[in-house]
Amino acid sequence: MIKIIYCIDKRNGFSYEKEMPWVNKEEMSHFKKNTINKTVLMGRKTYESIGRLLPKRENIIFSKDKNLKIKNAMVTDSIDWVVEKSIHEDIYVIGGKEIINLFLPYADEIIESVIRKEYKSDMKLDINKNYFKLVKSINRKDFKINYYKTKILSGYKISKQIKNELIIKNNYLIKEYNKKPSLVIVNVGDDFASSIYINNKVKLAKEVGIKAIVKKFEKTTTAQLSNYIDKCNKDKSINGILVQLPLPSNIDTNKILNKIDPLKDVDCLNNINIGNLFNIQRESILPCTPNAVVQILKRSNIKIQSKNIVIVGRSNIVGKPLGLLLLNENATITTCHSKTNNLRKITSNADILITAVGKEKLITDKDIKRGAILIDVGINRSKDNKICGDIDFEKVIKKCSLITPVPRGVGPMTVTMMILNLLNATNLQNKKTTN
Ligand code: NAD
Repeated sequence: MIKIIYCIDKRNGFSYEKEMPWVNKEEMSHFKKNTINKTVLMGRKTYESIGRLLPKRENIIFSKDKNLKIKNAMVTDSIDWVVEKSIHEDIYVIGGKEIINLFLPYADEIIESVIRKEYKSDMKLDINKNYFKLVKSINRKDFKINYYKTKILSGYKISKQIKNELIIKNNYLIKEYNKKPSLVIVNVGDDFASSIYINNKVKLAKEVGIKAIVKKFEKTTTAQLSNYIDKCNKDKSINGILVQLPLPSNIDTNKILNKIDPLKDVDCLNNINIGNLFNIQRESILPCTPNAVVQILKRSNIKIQSKNIVIVGRSNIVGKPLGLLLLNENATITTCHSKTNNLRKITSNADILITAVGKEKLITDKDIKRGAILIDVGINRSKDNKICGDIDFEKVIKKCSLITPVPRGVGPMTVTMMILNLLNATNLQNKKTTN
């Protein structure tokens, strides 16, 4: 978790004077108490003033100066590295406006220490942007502490946690069956977006310890591709087959997807696996994006049972199978689509609203109930060329209680669920041969 301790004084940030006359004993002991045995991240100047006084530990100094060497501290200028590290341990961020704003989008919690009431600050941070909700406010004699909780449901963070579980599961399978699980990704043509998605899949597979190969066809026919799939179905050294979509228009996509052995169909797109959703077993192969949504909810301790869940979008890869998965979890489901009348009336009743449409800003604050949980599956490119979802994030953030962002929401979880399918498939195949 990234926790931010936001410190301000009358001069807009830290006083860099050695004596720090603005920090009294009580405030300093508050810092020490809250950060004991924790990793603290700060800028160089903050380290030079307050950092030296904090209890000794491995601190992180955020600085562009690569040559900077500080005893008992790591120096980095990579936000990604810090976010990755925060998945495994709490990182407390202390500092002035610049550092705090850098880490605000990734924070799980903010502890805002307004140093001394008489020092009215003119420093307004993005906390006021409502990414966070105030959960507790404590008034002490001469200073006030506000505790904020984030409203962001980070699929990115959850996917990193699951990755660690997948590594353990993969090692177990290697030990049990004496070989590495393996995946074949079939790529036809030269679609640029497909090559990015394939690289992401291969990267995660390799990180988990899975053998992944990409079979590339420049041009092919339905018959040739079908023959290749048949060969992979019969090859015992291959545990998973994934055909990257979209296929060129001359290929019968439905025929190819249904040619894949259901026990090797790691994208869960053939009819037998979709049919199996009516009767899910413990180690089933599940549709990746719908399972990503369910896992985000479950791993964030969000109750699904009896909730009124509205899904906007009824595609075969997201909306329809997602409805089934959530129904299996005892939710009450309403699925909406392009022909639904009065969409707003339905969405504004949802406890949990899930959108998988592909239309920027389709859902605004007027379309949701106060306190709703929002899961945005959509991936769109905005007018200013940024990746965004179907939900108008800035508008709804004040009104909702939790939201998945785009990017770093459902997307990273989808690939992770495909790898989970591969490991489940490997186990199911081996069980079948030993039975
Ligand atoms: P699709 O085009 O197959 O389906 C879109 C659905 O939206 C349809 O059911 C349609 O009826 C509905 N729709 C269209 N306009 C609507 C409107 N005005 N009001 C209500 N419903 C409307 O799309 P898809 O393949 O399901 O993908 C949907 C979005 O999800 C896309 O942006 C896609 O990029 C994204 N996606 C993301 C992931 C991920 O991993 N995050 C995975 C798959 C798809």
